[in-house]
Amino acid sequence: MAAEPSTVMSLAEVEAFAMRVLRANGVAEHQAVPIAQAMAVAEASDCRSHGLYRLIGYVGSIRSGRVSAAARPRLERVAGSFLRVDGDNGFAPAAHAVGVTTFIEAAKRNAIAALALTNCYHYSALWHDLDPIVDAGLACWAFTVGQCIVAPHGGNRRLMGTNPIAFGWPRAGERPFVFDFATSAVARGEIELMGRAGKALPTGWAIDAAGEPTLDPAQALAGALLPFGGYKGSALSMMVELIAGPLIGEPASRAAAALDNGDGGPPLGGELLIAMSPDVFTSGLTHDWHEQAESFFTEARKQPGIRLPSDRRHDARERSEQHGVGVPDALLKELARLLPG
Ligand code: NDP
Repeated sequence: MAAEPSTVMSLAEVEAFAMRVLRANGVAEHQAVPIAQAMAVAEASDCRSHGLYRLIGYVGSIRSGRVSAAARPRLERVAGSFLRVDGDNGFAPAAHAVGVTTFIEAAKRNAIAALALTNCYHYSALWHDLDPIVDAGLACWAFTVGQCIVAPHGGNRRLMGTNPIAFGWPRAGERPFVFDFATSAVARGEIELMGRAGKALPTGWAIDAAGEPTLDPAQALAGALLPFGGYKGSALSMMVELIAGPLIGEPASRAAAALDNGDGGPPLGGELLIAMSPDVFTSGLTHDWHEQAESFFTEARKQPGIRLPSDRRHDARERSEQHGVGVPDALLKELARLLPG
């Protein structure tokens, strides 16, 4: 297939473009800045389904009045090292920005801390939320309930969200180990992008509205995606549904879907982060956690063909920082329609 015509943009230009669109649609600065930064890093990291493309949904949910463009997230220490940010019906990146520093301090002091982002709309990649926490020397889990479009293993209709799980491990002087994937066979945004590019889906990713297997992105979006890994991915998805939903006072994905108005934006639902300090976990022991972990990674790297999760993302980012990113002209044209006049 011929390459799509595209325009090369620097990361600063990507961020500035996102800011222009968000500002033009009335999104307050403190909400817009973390969204635009996350989009620029996603484009740079070749994680396109969380790049500029997401502006369409962000703006849709602002224009429909479902999400508050001026929301002021508030941080609360609920109990011990459990923190909660009330997102004030705004977007999750601003809620994360308000809580992340205190969360890191709490995990470093108490060995383990949890941060719940609530009453907000999560639409970005989890690795972006983990990166600053892992860079601060902590191991961390992140979970969010995605859009309700996944059928349970053995089922024939949607029940669960795409429910990604991410985990990060800190490595001094090396790129941190971070994985981040949906518990569905693929993230919903990827299906949308494949549909736009006229590509067929691989077998085993989706069923249509009648519960029959389909390779057609449009039929999949009308039907349901399947979990990865059969019953194992299905159970992990159910776990995310519970711990990033009811456990933190957020709706499960079906309940969130019932509140959706079809504006194309993110569903109501926040995020649960759990950070652990290897320094505190191993304090008083002779065991050197860093050395042990590094010897594990060294052994892993000896196997030909292996790459660690995030290697591709970091390689892409290094390339993009030097050469910029190619943004498809068709997308830029579509996004320009979100600007007034
Ligand atoms: P992928 O199936 O593409 O898997 C991504 C992860 O697996 C990355 O950590 C990736 O590293 C790693 N990986 C991929 N291939 C290999 C390999 N050969 N060897 C080792 N590691 C590998 O991701 P998904 O499509 O499931 O999810 C994409 C994104 O969508 C995630 O960032 C997720 O957070 C996001 N999402 C967000 C939702 C929301 O509501 N906010 C809902 C659902 C998903 P690398 O990056 O280096 O390739």
